[in-house]
Amino acid sequence: YQPIVDFKSGYTYKAEALIRWNHPTLGLIPPDRFIPVAEETGAITEIGEWVFQQAANQVAKWRSKHNSEFQISINKSPVQFTNREDGHDAWINHLQELHLPGDSLAIEITENLLLDVKSNINDKLLKFRNAGFQVSIDDFGTGYSSLSYLQKLDIDYLKIDQSFIRNLQEDSSELVLCIAIITMAHNLGLRVIAEGVETETQRDLLISMGCDYGQGYLFSKPIPAEEFDASFCLTEKSKKMK
Ligand code: C2E
Ligand code: CA
Ligand code: CA
Repeated sequence: YQPIVDFKSGYTYKAEALIRWNHPTLGLIPPDRFIPVAEETGAITEIGEWVFQQAANQVAKWRSKHNSEFQISINKSPVQFTNREDGHDAWINHLQELHLPGDSLAIEITENLLLDVKSNINDKLLKFRNAGFQVSIDDFGTGYSSLSYLQKLDIDYLKIDQSFIRNLQEDSSELVLCIAIITMAHNLGLRVIAEGVETETQRDLLISMGCDYGQGYLFSKPIPAEEFDASFCLTEKSKKMK
């Protein structure tokens, strides 16, 4: 889990679930190495189910122990949307069993999925939204953006791609692009999460531009739940942005 820091309050009550494969001989394998294969073989459906179950159980714990508004976001592969029976009802039921509202979870998808007519994405996303789940557009700015879809599908968050943050400094073209994205998002009623925040300069520029949330190594790398608990869920003070 990697913390997502609320720039206004400095508190962390959101996290992104980022999967790793703990292989018996090869050690920790990053998702970029196995998710594409899982997408090809179809194993992604089962992996995605597991990720959902883990995240739902974890957010139930953090909601009762740490912050009643805690939210975990999970990455959902476009392939998971192509199944006719996509299991959304099962997800909604599982949350209800845990007495969790839909907004305990956010689903991260990429912009390109919005343009994919085959996946029947509109109906599926609207069903999620009706159940209260929130929806984030991941890697924003790298794909084909359809601004009208952002509003039509009632998207909640834009995640500015790391490539814009990496070279963010005073007088850079990235600065201009970030301002444009944040202004547009706010006018459409969306909140903005900056990904890949590694330096204090980047953080301060983002705060001065009115960016809502930040995620990146400056705050923490993705860490196991127990470690997250210890660093971000213990005292009021430790919850504050570092
Ligand atoms: P993503 O969703 O764009 O996730 C952000 C990636 O950036 C993560 O890599 C994260 O560890 C890394 N990151 C975070 N902060 C920083 C930073 O400050 N600097 C740099 N250089 N990198 C940072 P990770 O964990 O290796 O995940 C890679 C991709 O794998 C994710 O990209 C996502 O597309 C995919 N993925 C991860 N977990 C899942 C999953 O459960 N299901 C699916 N379908 N895809 C997943
Ligand atoms: Ca993501
Ligand atoms: Ca991303």
